Amino acid sequence: MIPYGRQTISQDDIEAVVEVLKSDFLTQGPIVPEFEKAVAEKVGATHAVTANSATSALHLACLAIGLQAGDTLWTSPITFVASANCALYCGATVDFVDIDERTYNMCPIALETKLTIASQGGALPKAIVVVHMCGQSCDMRAIWEVAQRFGVLVIEDASHAIGGKYENSYIGGCQYSDVTVFSFHPVKIVTTAEGGIALTNSNAIGNRMRRLRAHGITRDRDEMSGGEGEPWVYEQLDLGFNYRMTDLQAALGISQLKKLDSFVSRRKEIALQYDDALAAWPVITPWQLNDVQSAWHLYVVRVDREKTKASRKSVFNFMRESGIGVNVHYIPVHTQPYFRRLGFGVGDFPIAERYYDEAISLPIYPELSEHDFQRVTDCLKAAIKHGESC
Ligand SMILES: *Cc1c(COP(=O)(O)O)cnc(C)c1O
Repeated sequence: MIPYGRQTISQDDIEAVVEVLKSDFLTQGPIVPEFEKAVAEKVGATHAVTANSATSALHLACLAIGLQAGDTLWTSPITFVASANCALYCGATVDFVDIDERTYNMCPIALETKLTIASQGGALPKAIVVVHMCGQSCDMRAIWEVAQRFGVLVIEDASHAIGGKYENSYIGGCQYSDVTVFSFHPVKIVTTAEGGIALTNSNAIGNRMRRLRAHGITRDRDEMSGGEGEPWVYEQLDLGFNYRMTDLQAALGISQLKKLDSFVSRRKEIALQYDDALAAWPVITPWQLNDVQSAWHLYVVRVDREKTKASRKSVFNFMRESGIGVNVHYIPVHTQPYFRRLGFGVGDFPIAERYYDEAISLPIYPELSEHDFQRVTDCLKAAIKHGESC
């Protein structure tokens, strides 16, 4: 089975991890801060706080901006459930803003409309989590302008998008947001096995995330209530968590980060090849905003209902049966049973739902061979023909 995504691990990655195994620290050593510094410098942010997953990093971000019971957070229905769950962990309420039909990212116009109505009802959200679907940045200038106008905080769930750019700057610099989160899960662009990171230019948010990641404990005299204190004293100031990344993971991350740009350019090369190979076929290929360079975590095509009788289901099943590990990203979050119990239902976000009915993620990762690429495109074409004949 050709997977839809997979990690690229080479000898230098392996050696970097083995070196830490032989060192004094497996966790809480010097490598985690080194990795944080490397990511912050790469993307141009002041603070970088690693965590044991992007899910944890999103939770830290929500806590650090003060999200709590009584607050609401809005996100996109087309995302992994973690973008919404982070608000629920804080006791806040979740709602969604429908996507832009072309980018599959949160639509800035839908956002503005919904904020206008919410402000008239005195029910503005405290924050939004925007998601850079497939690795393509949201229209951050538009999102930020609207959010600022209504006094709403912005978190970028950039789990798909490390190495991508918006207006010629790396995503993660937080030029148009309060916090940005990356995931280092193996299917993402660079990996630490499990792992994530939160970036910000706010000292207050950065310090709070760092403290909450390790039990809410500080050893910084300036933060302590006790003043002088004894040398062994630490203080728990907040209810934090053990969300730490290990030095083993950070070493892998440092090694992987060196290859970020080459991974992204290889992904882009594959994306352009797909664009070419599928141009004459009844599928909608990814549309890109101006001023955006996607990190190409995913290559999603939509089976074009107006041009073919084939369906997403027929194409998906045919390809899976032929050994192509196609996938679907994502089942709209608001239609998940848990969210239906919160009162959401089918029909709430029609553009997201229609996208979902048509979407298929094709294999894309740096080591996808020319031969396998050919197999995928041949199979997709055969699947469409097969779907049209039944
Ligand atoms: C992968 C992913 C996450 C969660 O990342 P983990 O590191 O596995 O916790 C969150 N949001 C999006 C959009 C993702 O794709």
